[in-house]
Amino acid sequence: MDFKYVIVGAGLAGLTMAERIANVLDEKVLIIEKRNHIGGNVFDSYNEDGILIHNYGPHIFHTNSQSVYRYLSNFTEWNDFWHRVLTYVDGNLVPMPITVETINALYNLNLDCSQVEDFLKEQAVEIEEIKTSKDVALSKVGQDIYSKIFENYTKKQWGIDPAELDTSVISRIPIRLNRDTRYFADRYQGMPKNGYTKMCERMAANKNIKIMLNTDYKEVINDINYEKLIYTGPTDYYYDYKYGKLSYRSINFAFETYDKERFQEAPVVNYPNDYDYTRITEFKQLTWQEHRKTTICKEFPCAEGEPYYPFPTKECKAQFALYAEEMKKEDNVIFLGRLAEYKYYNMDAVVKRALDVFELMTKHA
Ligand SMILES: Cc1cc2nc3c(=O)[nH]c(=O)nc-3n(C[C@H](O)[C@H](O)[C@H](O)COP(=O)(O)OP(=O)(O)OC[C@H]3O[C@@H](n4cnc5c(N)ncnc54)[C@H](O)[C@@H]3O)c2cc1C
Repeated sequence: MDFKYVIVGAGLAGLTMAERIANVLDEKVLIIEKRNHIGGNVFDSYNEDGILIHNYGPHIFHTNSQSVYRYLSNFTEWNDFWHRVLTYVDGNLVPMPITVETINALYNLNLDCSQVEDFLKEQAVEIEEIKTSKDVALSKVGQDIYSKIFENYTKKQWGIDPAELDTSVISRIPIRLNRDTRYFADRYQGMPKNGYTKMCERMAANKNIKIMLNTDYKEVINDINYEKLIYTGPTDYYYDYKYGKLSYRSINFAFETYDKERFQEAPVVNYPNDYDYTRITEFKQLTWQEHRKTTICKEFPCAEGEPYYPFPTKECKAQFALYAEEMKKEDNVIFLGRLAEYKYYNMDAVVKRALDVFELMTKHA
């Protein structure tokens, strides 16, 4: 088999590269995907009751990048969706991220925006050198809010204390000194009108793109002549784990369908302190599908399983650095995406990265 370009993985990273190679360069490209579907973790499908679910957990598109939004809009229309999240604390549902409404609901107060700013300043703990996620949270919101909202959620999510996690984990959670209770503040937000899988199918629609499903690339790669390999699978697997297995946090998704139209008060409800799951998503509130039943998904974080989140500790980063040195030596392999780069990317960031990598690749061709 001859293909100038071979891509491992049919997630957003692989599909964006394939689409550009097929449409802009008009070259043939083969995608090898070990799962039985394209889309990677953004894959969605209809369950046995006919309800559209996100098979690998809830995915909400949001970005400040006009170029990414325009690029993906070639393959889908969007529902004008603004995400909202509630957190269950002390028997009440309070909005996330922390806004003026959250503070007022948590402490039964009626403060205005500047009073909340003062309130948070009073709560904040002074920390000389911020080194961990716990330091970040304490320095922003103080001990009480840290215990109520962040501490146990983070423990459940990562299986270790926030004091052992680097600052990246909690610093992603914004604090808003206003009444805007939308979860994301990005300029563009939405859900693909016909779902992510349909969007991915349109990205792969060019006849230059061939897709081999149900195939681990190692089973076939030696039988293919190619010039460039674009690898979006796990790096440790590529190198036969020569520096050991990289650690990931996984999630067990438990789907439940109920014979009623509505299950909960928001698309996502977080449970920092109760139950073993971290959050519940109700899909119909994301997709706006009308159906007399509803499907929800509970997320149980765990150590073993599909690799979802790279482990954000110093040791894990140092281990990946050993692989990164090897990656630099490869002439005809591009490592791209959340698994190959051992980096958490949102959908927009991974598409942006793929578009940038494509530009670089064509410049050097
Ligand atoms: C639970 C969860 C929720 C998320 N929610 C959001 C959200 O709300 N908003 C947002 O913007 N982002 C979200 N993301 C991030 C989003 O999923 C990623 O940005 C995106 O999936 C990354 O695409 P990718 O192509 O790099 O990786 P992937 O989608 O993982 O694609 C990699 C592909 O490579 C394949 N592969 C691996 N090994 C091999 C092999 N040996 N041979 C062949 N194929 C192989 C895999 O099967 C997979 O299909 C979420 C992620 C998770 C885990």
